[in-house]
Amino acid sequence: MRKLLFVFIVVCFTWSSYSQKSMEGSHGKKSEFSNPKLVVGIIVDQMRYDYLTRFYSKYGEGGFKRMMNEGFNCKNNHFNYVPTYTGPGHASVFTGTTPKNHGIIANDWYDKETDKMVYCAEDNTVLAVGTSSEAERMSPRRMNTTTFADENRLFTQMRGKSIGISIKDRGAILPVGHTANAAYWFRGKDEGKFITSNYYMDNLPKWVQDFNNSNTAKSYLKEWKTLYDISTYTESGDDLNNFEGGFNGKKTATFPYDLKALSKKNGGFNILKQSPYGNSLLADFAIEAIKNEALGKDKDTDVLTVSFSSTDYVGHNFGVNSKEIQDTYLRLDKDLERLFNTLDKEVGQGSYTVFLTADHGAVDVPLYLQSLKIPSGYIKSKDLKDALKSFCLERFKTDGLIKNVSNNQVFLNRNKVKELGLDLSYVQQTLVNEIITYGKVYKAYSATTMSTSYFSEGIEHLLQNGYNQKRSGDILTVPYPNHIFYRKTGTSHGSGFNYDTHVPLLFFGYGIKHGATLQKTVIPDITSTISALLGISFPNGASGKPLEFILE
Ligand SMILES: [Zn+2]
Repeated sequence: MRKLLFVFIVVCFTWSSYSQKSMEGSHGKKSEFSNPKLVVGIIVDQMRYDYLTRFYSKYGEGGFKRMMNEGFNCKNNHFNYVPTYTGPGHASVFTGTTPKNHGIIANDWYDKETDKMVYCAEDNTVLAVGTSSEAERMSPRRMNTTTFADENRLFTQMRGKSIGISIKDRGAILPVGHTANAAYWFRGKDEGKFITSNYYMDNLPKWVQDFNNSNTAKSYLKEWKTLYDISTYTESGDDLNNFEGGFNGKKTATFPYDLKALSKKNGGFNILKQSPYGNSLLADFAIEAIKNEALGKDKDTDVLTVSFSSTDYVGHNFGVNSKEIQDTYLRLDKDLERLFNTLDKEVGQGSYTVFLTADHGAVDVPLYLQSLKIPSGYIKSKDLKDALKSFCLERFKTDGLIKNVSNNQVFLNRNKVKELGLDLSYVQQTLVNEIITYGKVYKAYSATTMSTSYFSEGIEHLLQNGYNQKRSGDILTVPYPNHIFYRKTGTSHGSGFNYDTHVPLLFFGYGIKHGATLQKTVIPDITSTISALLGISFPNGASGKPLEFILE
């Protein structure tokens, strides 16, 4: 009996140590405290979720599909605030919070302190590096909270590098945050170069200078025709229609486009931004950055953020349903494949982690929707301002109460309110009651309501997450669905409706499971997930939850 018990104990012991080993085995090479060598955060500017599914059959195996087939696809991922613009989008993805905390409430906003419009990345205390232009003085100083790249720098005693690149300045600067080694963006016009700010460095590194001198940008001033036979592009509308903008100097918005000839009337190298070649140029630059900065080569995790902007310019110009947007995504798919192949070669397959998302979506061209009887339309800020001024003149005997109307917000002249002995919340509510009677206004709320009530769902919840007590206006308005502040061709974004909030979220590489979910995820979940993967502190304002189900 005693012998039998002994055998039983030995068997149990062996079994438990065996199963422990096999558990370790199922975790692959990832142990509790090991990390990817490089995290690459990719933003595709204005990418709607349905661009993954609509163009799926035309994508190759090495780009978007590789991320879906080898990684994790969060299919129901949304922005959880308004306004859905580029500046707030980039800040939110990487800080893991919303304008309420990080303070990037729009691309440009009315600044109450200085009584003028400010730009999200402008900083007159710094100088541009690599250009003589006065217009390129940029830094992340208006962003109030840290990004996961900042936390990674702190965690690694500043040994882990972080580099941000994009065609747009804000797309390069906001993601990498305050402690970045570098942020590079594209200066178009007659220069066609990647530049930076003396916030990061005093001179461009040699590899950047070499890239700028290499003629790469110039080589893309060529013909833009469709990648495949245009008759096979059955996932988008007719090439010739009434809903597209096009380029100056070409009568119709139809293929092919001679970018070199058109560049003269379309801002020189700026035309590259509005073509898929802006993305190709950025991929070329990202590949050079990976090689020359030796990213992912030592034991400290590095961070590279890459924001592809041309998708946004093409979307604004031609709209969601255009052949041009389809071609831009098919070509971006090839650029992603090149980027992933470089990462495999330089960092090693399975040694890096990539995520891909967008900064906002976009609505179909309202004029196109109108032609299909779907409620939609156009609005002008000026109409709201004029109507409110005349209302104030009648109601408060002054038209000086309205200081500014921008980004669907009304800023009051608070000194004037005080001077007249009026109660601020009373003035706000009186104007809300007036505004809600206007035809194109769907909803309106006062700043007082935003700071004294709590909304847990719906557009009101998104407004509240976008509302920053220090920076936002006195009244927040919401236009009807499918209504934009824009010209009648091309399209825009900015709302809290699904066409603007629903964007891709793909993860793949080190530490990431293969799978997909329809469970709702929100943009702030990204940094919490990456921080959890790296075992570092969450960004100081982060409000998302780590997506445990995607982590190995
Ligand atoms: Zn845009």
